[in-house]
Order: sequence, then C-alpha cells, then structure tokens
Amino acid sequence: MTTVAQQRVLRTAIPGPLSVELHQRKLATVSAGVGTGLPVYVERAGGGILVDVDGNQLIDFGSGIAVTSVGNAAPRVVERVQAQVADFTHTCFMVTPYEEYLEVCEALADLTPGDHEKRSALFNSGAEAVENAVKIARHYTGRQAVVAFDHAYHGRTNLTMALTAKNMPYKHRFGPFAGEVYRAPMSYPFRWPGGPADCAKESFDVFVSHVHSQVGADNVAAVVLEPIQGEGGFIVPAPGFVRQVADWCAEHGILFIADEVQTGFCRTGDWFASEHEGVVPDLITTAKGMAGGLPLAAVTGRAEVMDAIHGGGLGGTYGGNPVACASALGAIETMREEDLCGRARAIETIFLPRLQALAERFPQIGDIRGRGAMLAIELVRGAGDLTPDAALTAAVNKECHTQGLVILTCGTYGNVFRFLPPLVASDDLLAEGLDIFEAAFAKAAG
Ligand SMILES: *Cc1c(COP(=O)(O)O)cnc(C)c1O
Repeated sequence: MTTVAQQRVLRTAIPGPLSVELHQRKLATVSAGVGTGLPVYVERAGGGILVDVDGNQLIDFGSGIAVTSVGNAAPRVVERVQAQVADFTHTCFMVTPYEEYLEVCEALADLTPGDHEKRSALFNSGAEAVENAVKIARHYTGRQAVVAFDHAYHGRTNLTMALTAKNMPYKHRFGPFAGEVYRAPMSYPFRWPGGPADCAKESFDVFVSHVHSQVGADNVAAVVLEPIQGEGGFIVPAPGFVRQVADWCAEHGILFIADEVQTGFCRTGDWFASEHEGVVPDLITTAKGMAGGLPLAAVTGRAEVMDAIHGGGLGGTYGGNPVACASALGAIETMREEDLCGRARAIETIFLPRLQALAERFPQIGDIRGRGAMLAIELVRGAGDLTPDAALTAAVNKECHTQGLVILTCGTYGNVFRFLPPLVASDDLLAEGLDIFEAAFAKAAG
C-alpha cells in the first residue's frame, strides 16, 4: 500500500504538462458528454490528498462527490478489497450467493434509523437505488404517483431524471421522461419569499396543498426527499419540515423515501441525516459514502414493504458485487472505529467560524448552511440583492484549482460552494485548504 504525505505540493502549473497531454487524449476518445471539473489526471491518492501525473499533490475538499469519506485508498478498504478480489470477483448474488452481501445488509439494518425489522437490496449506483425504491413503493402501495421536490437530484437514468429538478445539464433534450412524477415546492429558507421564519411556518402547508390539489394524496405511492439536498445546493429545509412531511406520508398511506445517497454514512455528523430530524424513513437509499470508493448502493426498508416483492422482482447482474461489499465493510469498520460521525461534527466546528468570518468580509456570501462535513455557502450579488452570482462562483473555483485545492460547486443556479472533505483529513490539511479558499475568494471578489 502506498502512503501519501498529507500535504499540498505544487511542482507545475495546474493542470501540469502531463495532465494537459492526457486531456488531449481524453477529448479524442471520451464522449464530450462526460465532463471533468478539473482536468488533472490522478495517479495515486491517500487520505485527503490527490497526487497527479505531474507529481502535484492537491488537497481534496470534494471526496469524489462525498464518496471517499473514509479517505482515499483507506487502509481497511484496501486490505478487505485485496483479500476479496483474490478469493473471488463475482458469482452474481442471484445465482450463487455469498456472506459479504449479508454482512452489508446486516450493517444497514443496524445503522439506519429505527429498530424495526428491516430488509435491504443492493445495487450499483445511487440512481439505481432510487429507481428501485420507487419500484418497491409502487408495488407495495398499488399506487403510481411519486412526489419529488424543487432542486432535487436523484440521478441520471430515465426515472431519476424525471425526479431530478434541474434541466441543464441533467435533462436537457433527454426526454421524454418517466410519467407519474410530480414536483412540489422545496422548503428553502434562504430563498423563501418572506424569508426563513416564514419558510418554517409555511413550507409544509404549501407542500400539502400542492399535493392535494395537483396529485391527490390517495394517488401517491411515495414522497422522495433528500434530508439535505445535494446537487441542488446543499439546501437544508426549515426545522421540522422533513418530520412533518414524513408524518403526513404515514397518515396517508404514502411511503416516505429518504434519499441519503449523499447525506448518509457520517457525512452530516450522524450515520444518517434523517436521525437529526427524528425521522424513521419507510425506505432509505444509500450509495456514495457507503463503500469507500467502489460502486455499491442499497435500498433499506421496512421488512413488510421489502418482502412484499415477488422473488426475482429486484436485482441485477452486479448488484452487491463481493468486492464492493468487502469495500463497504472496510469503510463501515473505519467509520465505527474512528468515530467519523464525531469527526464530521468536529469538521463543522473548524469550517463554520472561518466561513462566518469570510461572510463578514464579503457580502457576496449570502448564506452559510449544512451540517457536519456537508457545508456550503451560497453566493449572491451583495447585501440585500439575492441574485445568484454564478460568475463569481466560477472565478473562485478556478482560482482554487490553480492553487491545488479540489473543490466542488453545486446549486440550481450554479452559485454554491459545497465543502465535502474526507472525514479523516487532519486539522492542518483542512486549515490549509481553507487558507487557499479564503485567498482565492479575496482575489476573485476583491
Ligand atoms: C449522487 C446522488 C444520486 C445518484 O447517485 P449515482 O451513484 O451517481 O447514480 C442520487 N441521489 C442523491 C441524493 C445523490 O447525491
């Protein structure tokens, strides 16, 4: 196993000459539809550092989109994966099963909210998990309609494109989309017409009246909600909103699906973001942080719901691949042993004061939000003017990249910086990343 020194090193311009060369090959061989945020080609990685082909060491504030929460090439992940890949690589669980799949499902039953009887099914991607959660909900309830929210992101397959809110780049000219998907207004305190206090008072009522008038509660199989929205802008709904929606679903025989693909597995300071809201979802979808970088996803839910499906109704050739399961077991062990939920809460206390201080200097920072190690700032024109400032966001982003900080943006209006560092990154590395971010912000905004 390689060990990577946990520090930034800049040897060339970013991207360096070898990355530039590889990028020329990329353009000649990879579909232009597959974009790259920062065309720096990675050769090795460890913890919170990415080493590129030119020998630069970049600080990782993105974790490959909230995936490598346990760090890149985490020791327990590498060890388990290497052992598993040498034992066997694939049988297809639906043909001849293996214990690792069961262990992952047992861990999911143990860790997800609620102590009721649970069952899980494993898949390859977050989108696949969300699709299957909807299949399960429709089958169980005998109803068809599914309600998703403004700013939602649930994936790029046909059904999950329909659930996803944002046109560019996810949906543009990719229709027609799956039917019986309805969109409700999101509880978005920063952009609620009367402000955050009105949002807390009104957003649930607006949701209910919207569903009653446009869909009819009796027609709804499931409501799908990210407890903190991811790609849509790290939108934290008003306090109580998630709970009210979940309770309302229960009253109307609707399944509440928490899409915790991005929020799950310690990211927000709890194992799952639903816990903070005191919510026990009927179905919960997980992926990203669960398996330390290998593709694995799950739907976990009430036994009576999950077992209502006929044999063979759920599955897929690769779902719950043994190597991916071994990786997940190594990642979950790391989260438990190193108390990465506690570490996510500590990361919040490192980031928040610095982001608050930055917001005092720059009125373009309109909102600071998030929880644990899932934090964001939303950029606007200035005090009192909430017009999204995507241009400033892009300029700061570019400057961070030049300085060797891998950072991600998001948001319906492209004006949000999201901070998703690996939970194992040291205080020093996080502080250095924040130094770079602050300097980049001052340079671009000043
Ligand atoms: C990333 C994401 C998905 C889609 O996951 P993929 O593995 O990219 O298919 C679904 N839901 C949420 C909340 C996500 O963040």
